[in-house]
Amino acid sequence: MATIQRRKSLSCMIGTVRVGGDAPVVVQSMTNTDTADAASTVQQVAALARAGSELVRVTVNNEESAAAVAPIVEQLARQGITVPVIGDFHYNGHLLLKKYPECARALAKYRINPGNVGIGRKDDANFGTMIEVAAENNKPVRIGVNWGSLDQALLTRMMDENSRLPEPKDARSVTMDAIVVSALNSARLAEQYGLRPDQIILSAKVSGVQDLIDVYRSLAARCNYPLHLGLTEAGMGAKGIVASSAALAVLLQEGIGDTIRVSLTPAPGGDRSEEVRVAQQILQSLGIRSFTPQVTACPGCGRTTSTFFQEMAEQIQTYLRDSMPLWKDRYVGVEEMKVAVMGCVVNGPGESKHASLGISLPGTFEEPKAPVYVDGRLFTTLKGDRIVAEFITILDQYVESHYAAKEEVPVPV
Ligand code: SF4
Repeated sequence: MATIQRRKSLSCMIGTVRVGGDAPVVVQSMTNTDTADAASTVQQVAALARAGSELVRVTVNNEESAAAVAPIVEQLARQGITVPVIGDFHYNGHLLLKKYPECARALAKYRINPGNVGIGRKDDANFGTMIEVAAENNKPVRIGVNWGSLDQALLTRMMDENSRLPEPKDARSVTMDAIVVSALNSARLAEQYGLRPDQIILSAKVSGVQDLIDVYRSLAARCNYPLHLGLTEAGMGAKGIVASSAALAVLLQEGIGDTIRVSLTPAPGGDRSEEVRVAQQILQSLGIRSFTPQVTACPGCGRTTSTFFQEMAEQIQTYLRDSMPLWKDRYVGVEEMKVAVMGCVVNGPGESKHASLGISLPGTFEEPKAPVYVDGRLFTTLKGDRIVAEFITILDQYVESHYAAKEEVPVPV
């Protein structure tokens, strides 16, 4: 793993998951089902948890959804899924948390957006009510500022103050400052209302990469609360993945960020779990955490004879991903395994030698054989149309022999 000096932050317990302090950077996600539709929400929370989401947030926007929260958590528990479920509140959280105490109890954390609970509008009673419910139930809170719903009274005041300065800052800088100030002021207020500092997590999300980096650097320097990192409204497909990766990589490399979410817009009918896999891949690519064995594959070029090696790389990646739920309970450290699938002998054997296992397929005009390397040494050479199946057999044998079986917990008799 990479040796990145993490920013020192408080440690916050969210259900059974620790965020901040020296805990690993936690991956989280959010459902897009109607929470009032308990069956669909249970199904999606379960899918996100199985994909590796360590925390899952659900919208709690009306009475029906608040009423559904406790049954959702119970149904998940009956399936053996204990992922902490977080409630996302806007506008009416104070009413819902008061009226549905079982919802307040079932949630592992509340997310409060200070831009839309009345902060800065003379009274902060709504915010106070939510914090008091959190304190009574011993729940942590994420104070999640979003520039799309930034406290306008605060922003206007800071813009006015800035305009009176001899050398005013530009509007962007004042807006970024206002986002940070909104988060910090709200955290201070939350402590006044009874939350302990170690029950507070902050986020300050914007949708521009450079803006996000500036905001989080500032936030990180000005407090020791754990930080939830994410580029809001990252977008669809490659744009969303690249923008999130670019922003999060810079901050994580600087040790900033205790939990991350990648806010991708799924394609219609798309898989919500994609955002979990992307978040994991960001952490794994940076060498911060390992989740699944990695496949190194060359891009292919004019030397590759067909799409065979691309298909093989995909089949092996899929096989590894599908096997992980079983493997991770059985084999210690299997997620660190590296597999190389290369298109020809130019870089194939070299790359294979750096991997745990590697195969180098024959390129154009090369002999029709595929050397397989194990731990840097030529192990065998495969030929014919069963190369993939035979390579997967070698892979299984490697896992079996290289990663000690986890000890079975004895069943009491
Ligand atoms: S390893 Fe061979 S096939 Fe793959 S990109 Fe390099 S030259 Fe092309």
